[in-house]
Amino acid sequence: MSKQNNKKKKDDKVILIVSIILIIAIAIFGIFFIKGQKDKEKEITYDKLYQDIIAKKVEKIEMTIGGSSVTVKYIGEDEEKTTHVNSLQPFMEFVNSQLLENPEMKVDLKTPNQFLAFFENILSFLPTILLVVLMFMIFQMQGLGEKGKVYGENEDNSTNVKFADVAGLDEEKNELIEIVDFLKNPKKFQNMGAKIPKGILLYGKPGTGKTLIAKAIAGEANVPFISMSGSEFIEMFAGLGASRVRKLFEKAKKIAPCIVFIDEIDAIGSRRTSNSGAESENNQTLNQLLVEMDGFESSETIIVLAATNRPEMLDKALLRPGRFDRQVTIPAPDLLGREEILKLYTKDKKISKDIDLKELAGDTAGFTGAELSNLLNEAAIIATRNNHKVIEKEDIETAVKKITVGLEKHNRVVSEKDKKLTAYHEAGHAVVSKFLETQDNVKEISIIPRGLTGGYTMYKTNEDKYYVSKTELEEKMIALLGGRAAEKIALNDISTGASNDIEVATGIARDMITVYGMSNSLGPISLKVDEPYELQIFGEDITDEVGNQVKELVDVAYVNAQKILIDHIEILHKVAHELLEKETISEQEFDSFFVE
Ligand code: ADP
Ligand code: ZN
Repeated sequence: MSKQNNKKKKDDKVILIVSIILIIAIAIFGIFFIKGQKDKEKEITYDKLYQDIIAKKVEKIEMTIGGSSVTVKYIGEDEEKTTHVNSLQPFMEFVNSQLLENPEMKVDLKTPNQFLAFFENILSFLPTILLVVLMFMIFQMQGLGEKGKVYGENEDNSTNVKFADVAGLDEEKNELIEIVDFLKNPKKFQNMGAKIPKGILLYGKPGTGKTLIAKAIAGEANVPFISMSGSEFIEMFAGLGASRVRKLFEKAKKIAPCIVFIDEIDAIGSRRTSNSGAESENNQTLNQLLVEMDGFESSETIIVLAATNRPEMLDKALLRPGRFDRQVTIPAPDLLGREEILKLYTKDKKISKDIDLKELAGDTAGFTGAELSNLLNEAAIIATRNNHKVIEKEDIETAVKKITVGLEKHNRVVSEKDKKLTAYHEAGHAVVSKFLETQDNVKEISIIPRGLTGGYTMYKTNEDKYYVSKTELEEKMIALLGGRAAEKIALNDISTGASNDIEVATGIARDMITVYGMSNSLGPISLKVDEPYELQIFGEDITDEVGNQVKELVDVAYVNAQKILIDHIEILHKVAHELLEKETISEQEFDSFFVE
């Protein structure tokens, strides 16, 4: 954390300096401008001066050798006027000729004041100098010339992360422990003739601990950890990305053995497709990365770890031997993993004895490590706000809801009509699910608005699934469309509230056809297109058929949802009315509607 603060402080300083320079620049421009305006008032044209000299109206003329301005004093006037001449020589000749006719006129020819002239020159260059300085500082801020943030070099506690701080992920740690060995004893492996890997790609959703595990490798091997994020390049000036990559590796070579971590590598390493604008900028950065990866010897023991959650986006060139030829998937934690993570993050928190972490792990299927750590932190905040001595079960439940469905919005005014619609919509989801074999049990139904939704139906999910059957997917769609079906059947009207359900259901249907090969007519074929040219292998009849099949799956699910609700219309009415009365119904209350 302290490095981030340092970086922030540094940025603040730069911003301060830039602002001061800007203010000075504006002031100087201002002075020049005002001075210019004043001078303008006193200015006369050369033609007028010419005429006036001939007309003998002029008392005195002042000129500076090498200068271009002429100061004129008129007879009977106090204020002096000025004019500019392109070339002094012909003007002086003219004045000399006039002196014969008008000897009264005084002519003063000054030698220039060296010091003043020098100072004036500097002053006129000042805005330019300031601009250059300003540009330079902006470049600095953008990261040009930045050496790359070095963690663990001069900082003491930065790579104190150890494998023990990474909960769960045992297999992955086992796979990566080898890297620690490489970093610690490179000689041992080299003597054996073994090539030390250069690049390892970590695949996984955000928050699954990819950065954490990379830091832990550096920590265990006691080597510096330097990092950058692919997304940092997106807003950069042309050419900066590549130079940044070069500097990062320059640094790495200096401090090797070390770990270089590139987060969100897909931002720079996505497929090179065209040569236009931002993309060609990305290509330069990617090319530089490839050059660097190929450039260092494996004896230099720099190990590059890169993280992404979109492996399919990566340019294949990155995955060639000698580059990122090893890939490790970092999955979202399973039941045991979640329990371990919860244990780790409750260690330093006061927590009530009746909280069963195993049960909580069961209730948080799909949560990543980051979300679990966030959950406990939220719970601690909620407990403090509720003046509890320790974190209670209810604090954790509130925190889970807050994270999964957004914050409760008590003060949003909901019209009776909207309430009724929401009640039937949510009751529809819940009742339909009850009659579907594969669907999870309902845990809570509510018509209190949360986040963006008008209400919600929460399900109990305490099973980690690795495979999902076709029936399960079909029934999932039915449950999703149960909301819309209830609106239609009970109120004979439909609302926009079902848009997300419909989107998700359609997505499932599409994946069933194009990814899981579950369509009867198309069979087990993958229609997911990775490369633009792959589209060409499928004719129009196939793409039409995909559309038809997706539509059919969704239609069937919608009909089934309506059928279930028509068959159990009394229960639907009862649940909806109960919701209108109580706003929230628990699992037990809901189940009581089904006992005969
Ligand atoms: P990623 O790089 O995959 O997006 P991070 O490594 O940045 O995720 O994880 C974010 C935070 O989540 C970590 O700092 C840590 O607090 C927590 N975290 C994630 N996974 C784990 C884990 N397996 N064990 C302990 N903490 C974890
Ligand atoms: Zn819904």
